[in-house]
Amino acid sequence: MAVKKFKKILAANRGEIAIRIFRACTELGISTVAIYSEQDKLSLHRYKADEAYLVGKGKGPIDAYLGIDEIIDLARKKDVDAIHPGYGFLSENPEFAEACERAGITFIGPTPEIQRALGDKVSGRKMAVEAGVPVVPGTEQPISTEEEALIFAKSAGYPIIVKASAGGGGRGMRVARSQKELLEGLKSAASEAKAAFGNPAVFLEKYIERPKHVEVQILGDKHGNIVHFYERDCSVQRRHQKVIEIAPSIYLDDKKRAQLCDYALKIAKSVDYVNAGTIEFLMDKEENFYFIEVNPRIQVEHTVTELVTMRNLVQAQIRIAEGYKLSDPEINIKSQKDIELRGYAIQSRITTEDPANQFAPDFGTIKAYRTAAGFGVRLDAAAGFAGAVITPHYDSLLVKISTWGLTFADASRTMHRALQEFRIRGVKTNIGFLERVITHPTFREGKCDTSFIDSHPELFL
Ligand code: ADP
Repeated sequence: MAVKKFKKILAANRGEIAIRIFRACTELGISTVAIYSEQDKLSLHRYKADEAYLVGKGKGPIDAYLGIDEIIDLARKKDVDAIHPGYGFLSENPEFAEACERAGITFIGPTPEIQRALGDKVSGRKMAVEAGVPVVPGTEQPISTEEEALIFAKSAGYPIIVKASAGGGGRGMRVARSQKELLEGLKSAASEAKAAFGNPAVFLEKYIERPKHVEVQILGDKHGNIVHFYERDCSVQRRHQKVIEIAPSIYLDDKKRAQLCDYALKIAKSVDYVNAGTIEFLMDKEENFYFIEVNPRIQVEHTVTELVTMRNLVQAQIRIAEGYKLSDPEINIKSQKDIELRGYAIQSRITTEDPANQFAPDFGTIKAYRTAAGFGVRLDAAAGFAGAVITPHYDSLLVKISTWGLTFADASRTMHRALQEFRIRGVKTNIGFLERVITHPTFREGKCDTSFIDSHPELFL
């Protein structure tokens, strides 16, 4: 397979991840194309690209970024070689990946076949079982009748979690501790899933009480070589959505770490995984791992893995899509041994949300924006400047702060200092809340499980 070097890449996304992609391209000497919706006409990602084009005229703010035909037509007209989908939007849509390939444009991500095999939670579970990896006890198929749900409940016992097969971002999930809650949860999860993902299919899993969330970053080339980049701990969550992520996990010993990474590689190898992906697991109190899902794309929290492995994952994604082998000098991973862990990294997601008001999103113009900087601080932002307008149209992520330190305590202290140093005026943010989490003894001791935030309401005030 010949290598095809890209000259121009379009990011089919917005916000911080579009800028992250442009930065990787620019460093590789590849020119960049942004798309933006009418609502995003003042958004920074537009100005950070070499070229920028309005898409989705007259469509809604989200739909503008979902117009497969329009985006591909534009890419063709502008001589784009490859499209990076980022996360969200079209990133896990196999029809988009197929449409790119039909148009002779490389999709920077896994093939549509891999997306289909792993992208859906139910099919992902099936692949994991076939690869010999433990999954949370659950239904093998989406639930089509209440009777099916009750049969599962009888054998598994409560609590049970109802999950959307196509779910993401903590949406389309309901925990049920009784038959009544199960029957209600089936309906509400299905309607939420239909509205959010266009697919009402839900399935059931045994609900594991207070687990930790650990996930393994993987990368595969088009020549059958796959490596992992160790794990991230994303247990600090609010309502099943990640808030703070850590790499590597501070409580796994070498043996457990090796077991976890081996499980992830087994799943990746079973589908000849290509490009970047994350294999997610829960770990119960007895330190058993259970696969939960694969995210076949770059994730928000990839920055912490980059910091501890000193590897640029987005650049690697581009090189893989160009056809390079992992072992080629352009990627420079001759074997798994080349991925070394150095120190600890933590990411905090600063959002324009008001913790004192149930995290209601806030909008308006940023009046003052003074960033943290200095040793061990990395920032990934889009609306990070005074004068930026925060609209209600998109998710409320404002800036990701990632800090690095030789020890977890060092990285935590740097994060605390960075949060204290930040000043954002004009819109409410969750900075104070993040400070309270970072300085909490449970966090400092590395003992947070997924229930930590929801069971400490004093963190909100
Ligand atoms: P999403 O795709 O919406 O992020 P996931 O399947 O990745 O959904 O799960 C998100 C979070 O929901 C997990 O990190 C965990 O906190 C919780 N969760 C999911 N499945 C279970 C389960 N079976 N038991 C306990 N918690 C779960």
